[in-house]
Amino acid sequence: MKVRFLFLLFFLSTNLLFGQKINLTVQGDVNFESELKAFINKDVSYISVAEMRNKIGLEGTTKTNLKISTFIFEDSELTFFADSPYFRVDNDIYKLPVNSIWSGGNVCVPFRPLVSLLNKQIFEGRFDYTRKPKFHLTVTKYHLKFGDNNLVSVEFDEKLNGTLIKIRTPKPFPDESIQSWVHDSGWLYLTVHNGKLDTNNFKISNLPKIIKEVILVQNEESAQISFKLSEKVEELDVYQTQNPSFIVLTLRDQRSKSLDDYFAQLETQKELWKIDTIVLDAGHGGKDPGAIGNKSLEKDVCLAIVLKLGKMIEKELGIKVIYTRKTDEFVELFKRGQIANEANGKLFISIHANSNKNKQSHGFETYFLSPSKSEKAAEVAEKENAVINYEDDQSIYEGFDDAGFIVASMMQSEFVKESQSIAAYVQKSVEKNLTVRDRGVKQAGFLVLWRTSMPSILIETGFISNPEEEKKLTNPSHQTKIAKAIVDGLRKFVHTY
Ligand SMILES: [Zn+2]
Repeated sequence: MKVRFLFLLFFLSTNLLFGQKINLTVQGDVNFESELKAFINKDVSYISVAEMRNKIGLEGTTKTNLKISTFIFEDSELTFFADSPYFRVDNDIYKLPVNSIWSGGNVCVPFRPLVSLLNKQIFEGRFDYTRKPKFHLTVTKYHLKFGDNNLVSVEFDEKLNGTLIKIRTPKPFPDESIQSWVHDSGWLYLTVHNGKLDTNNFKISNLPKIIKEVILVQNEESAQISFKLSEKVEELDVYQTQNPSFIVLTLRDQRSKSLDDYFAQLETQKELWKIDTIVLDAGHGGKDPGAIGNKSLEKDVCLAIVLKLGKMIEKELGIKVIYTRKTDEFVELFKRGQIANEANGKLFISIHANSNKNKQSHGFETYFLSPSKSEKAAEVAEKENAVINYEDDQSIYEGFDDAGFIVASMMQSEFVKESQSIAAYVQKSVEKNLTVRDRGVKQAGFLVLWRTSMPSILIETGFISNPEEEKKLTNPSHQTKIAKAIVDGLRKFVHTY
């Protein structure tokens, strides 16, 4: 019989932001409950795929060399990639609003958007949130004691997006005994039926910024604790925990609102895809000379053109430029993609110079990532990809040739239209501005374009193996002309996009 899992992920939305543990329950043939460790990175909660896998008892693997983690849920294999917003369910590709990351030897996924995507689009209604909190308690510097009654003390925890007020109790009260509200006057009241306070032994030492004053009142049938607030509270939540037993008030302030809007904002930003950062990649470098001419090396030509191009883009287009290298240094191919993704680049341009056994070959060509259409294009890609022979750990690129490449090009497929269009504008501008042979726009499988999450092109600026063209490529004024032609092409693209 097929095991049917029903995921019930119990947590309060604030819990994830404040705390670092998620209570997970799986209901299937075997009921299962466990606590998952989450951690927060740049305001996003992440859970390791291995943690999900192990705690729920699902099959799957982590390939450390590829930074890929998988798990199998029912008949589907889910594959997650580090430093990438994509994940795969069998052969379908989905995109998260933020990248998965690599941490502790595993891919860690942004938990909230993942679960909501799985629930809404993939395993309908199978993943669920409920509001039942379990707190990860932290040591707090604010601690007020009330004496040995049933409302023992209050602790304050200041968090990124608000403040927790935790009232220690020997054991939980019936929920209906507890009432809390914020009055327009800026007072937060907590009333506990049958609550007992020791108002005499109460001393205020230091308070968090949001609390100006605390007043305790013991009535005959209830106790009231009042907090004078210094800021407006967006949301108040009240609940109790056991072991240890607390009444918890969560005050979410303005900052939490901006967190809630975080993913919505990301979506909007994506729609308003604006080229505000261009990543320039000078091919080769350091121990990898690239193609070798009569008197020059490809790596030096690439760098010279890239530095000129970068200055021109910033000056003429007013777009920020990030370089994968600015000096003669060796940078692994995967790192180039990483630099681009981390810089949140909107366009990736890799600059190279070509070579051929036939010394007559000459001309300028622009590539975008896609399976090679011609043997010649495949040869160029093969030559450029060979630089990984300089790298210590080539296993990182395993799988690029077959399945990996298909995934990679699908990831890039979202940008193929833009990449192709940019390539066309650049190539057209070169044809207009330079007296070099126009070899056209081509497509091939370049490793360096593999994992960039943005439109990406690779330019072969000329043949260093052709003595005449080598002379041009090493001539600063020709390099400037190349840069100018590329900038003109980019300008046209930016204006029409
Ligand atoms: Zn090259």
